Amino acid sequence: MTEQTPRVAVVTGGARGIGAATAIRLAADGFAVAVVDLEEAAGKDTVEKITAAGGRAIAVGADVSNAEQVAAAIERIVAELGAPTVLVNNAGVLRDNLLFKMSENDWDTVMNVHLKGAFLMSKAVQKHMVDANYGRIVNLSSSSALGNRGQANYSAAKAGLQGFTKTLAKELGKFGITANAVAPGFIATDMTAATAARVGMGFEDFKAAAATQIPVARVGVPDDIAHTVSFLVSEGAGFVSGQVVYVAGGPLD
Ligand code: NAP
Repeated sequence: MTEQTPRVAVVTGGARGIGAATAIRLAADGFAVAVVDLEEAAGKDTVEKITAAGGRAIAVGADVSNAEQVAAAIERIVAELGAPTVLVNNAGVLRDNLLFKMSENDWDTVMNVHLKGAFLMSKAVQKHMVDANYGRIVNLSSSSALGNRGQANYSAAKAGLQGFTKTLAKELGKFGITANAVAPGFIATDMTAATAARVGMGFEDFKAAAATQIPVARVGVPDDIAHTVSFLVSEGAGFVSGQVVYVAGGPLD
């Protein structure tokens, strides 16, 4: 990458949680950041934090599982910020239920956002990375990829993202593009707060109980993941590709 190569990053699901922390961190690292989320207005808060700190960002509304919206979003990002060379596929939803109660819609929604969304975004962005002969793709997997009760849909999608990541690494490596997955353990966000509510626990008690099972004796925070993504999208990480980095405060069984 030369100084002329645009340092433009796209972060999906950037309105809150891990995506917001990652967008803010990448902006601090010197990237112009497109904060993609379902509603453009939802990304304004992240954009304001970036611009207040002297960075450059735009909020872009798009459903990552919708091919037309993805194409329009990338077109706008290229026009307003420049061609992206970093993509973080972070947008995600939960539709947890035991298998016998899981609806077809619960299954399809999770597959569409995580797997189809990562596919559509990667396909749209890789063209610009190939043109630049440089790129960094990071997909958000999860410790749930190893299997988790009540998450047949989510576990399958997050394990699928690991295979997707390794395939992108093999196909795109010759164009200077790396692809890696980050698989977080328990990170305190709205997503885990919603899980606490679903199982009828207060969030503080839920986090405390989770921390007893984590070797570093705390739950994760979005910055733990942002820091890992920052490394994986750095120029110096060009020989790290096709990897799954579990960021979970310890090894997983
Ligand atoms: P979060 O707080 O729920 O944020 C997810 C963001 O994604 C929201 O802003 C959401 O928008 C957006 N989003 C959902 N569907 C979308 C779509 N179709 N198109 C565009 N944006 C969409 O979640 P998080 O905890 O930060 O998690 C971020 C990623 O990390 C997810 O992929 C998640 O599966 C993964 N992860 C999280 C944990 C954890 O412990 N938190 C652990 C492992 C993996 P709305 O607000 O409009 O819904």
